[in-house]
Amino acid sequence: MKFTSLVLSTLMIGQMAFAQNSHKCASHEYLKLQDALNPGLEQQIKNLAQFQYKKTRATVVYIPVVFHVVYKNAAENLTDNYIDAQIDQLNMCYGRTNSDTTNMRSVFQPIVGKAKIQFILDKIVRVSTTQTSFDAGGIAPFSGSDQVKYTASGGSDAQMPTQKLNVWSCDLKLNGSDGLIGYAYPPPGLPNWGGQGNTNPTIDGVVMDYLDIGGPLKQPKGYAYGFRGKSLVHEVGHYLGLRHIWGDDGGACFGQMDYEDDGITDTPDQADQSPDNCDKVINSCTQTPDMPDMVENYMDYSSANCQNSFTKGQVTLMENVLATIRTTIKVPTSIVDVDAPEQVIVYPNPAMEIVNMAITGFTSDKGVITISNSLGQVVKQLNVNKSNDIQSISVADLSKGLYIIQLSVDHKNLFTQKLILQ
Ligand SMILES: [Zn+2]
Repeated sequence: MKFTSLVLSTLMIGQMAFAQNSHKCASHEYLKLQDALNPGLEQQIKNLAQFQYKKTRATVVYIPVVFHVVYKNAAENLTDNYIDAQIDQLNMCYGRTNSDTTNMRSVFQPIVGKAKIQFILDKIVRVSTTQTSFDAGGIAPFSGSDQVKYTASGGSDAQMPTQKLNVWSCDLKLNGSDGLIGYAYPPPGLPNWGGQGNTNPTIDGVVMDYLDIGGPLKQPKGYAYGFRGKSLVHEVGHYLGLRHIWGDDGGACFGQMDYEDDGITDTPDQADQSPDNCDKVINSCTQTPDMPDMVENYMDYSSANCQNSFTKGQVTLMENVLATIRTTIKVPTSIVDVDAPEQVIVYPNPAMEIVNMAITGFTSDKGVITISNSLGQVVKQLNVNKSNDIQSISVADLSKGLYIIQLSVDHKNLFTQKLILQ
């Protein structure tokens, strides 16, 4: 009964969120089920003191992504552009190269972190289905749903799920209604999930509603910058072991009855999920030193428009999961390093009419230089190959201000720098 009411409340929240397009997800329901199967589990987690994760890895891990586009109509059959934009969005948000990080309040500057985690599109699998939608109301192992993850039930079988992140895009419902944006299963063995993660590779990965796949490069009509694409950043956070920043306790602060923690030391104590807005006044729990609720955090339910960072503690947990639990999820280093240039220099900076990028030791013929404005919108893009050492880009048509210039290969970000035009 407890579980039923939680699903219903998620549904209601989800509907509200859908209209405003924020991140509502069902990943916490997994823990609720585990608590039902293992009575007292949640209480055990509540009793845990906050714990530190030890950082063990220095190099970037590249996660290969298999993107399943399961569609019945043309709108659901997302073009490659949406997938490309989504991979870029993941890379910017995890590497903290997204330009909207400038909106982060100073009080949180000391705790925000860049993850040494990047994503590479491995393949897009397109499956035409006769299913009108896929319902998460019976997320496995609740009632053996997860139908989108099985070819036999109109979905698409996971591909090498112990080595690759599988993401399914479909028309996602929850108990027959719109409103759910996505869900993911946490890995097994983490204390902040009571050790109760998913151990079935067949269903491992993230399911997303197709309406939320994208990024700054590909925004649907009428959506403000920054909305689309950040929900997958949130769901992949669950996949890499993160819990919601408020601990899913529905309103308790540290020391109060029913308090639950997200298991991360540096995230501020926060009573409940933020309203679906960017309320920067809200400060739900008193702590020392006191901090407001962190609506900028990807693991909150605040509007995606104000979410721009993970904390160092969250980053460490995710990196640690890749180093200790999801150890086989990665692209071999030998493949990754082929593309890395020895040196990249951008000059002049500040620039007026022309900006040059000098690239040495570059072995790829699939490089892309991108210049984005402060809203994250791409304003210049050109292809580069190993035969050209210096690329000159005309910026005379761009207005003065702060930009971001990047070099990437196959959506793998190799170089990022601020560029000032004056
Ligand atoms: Zn979530």
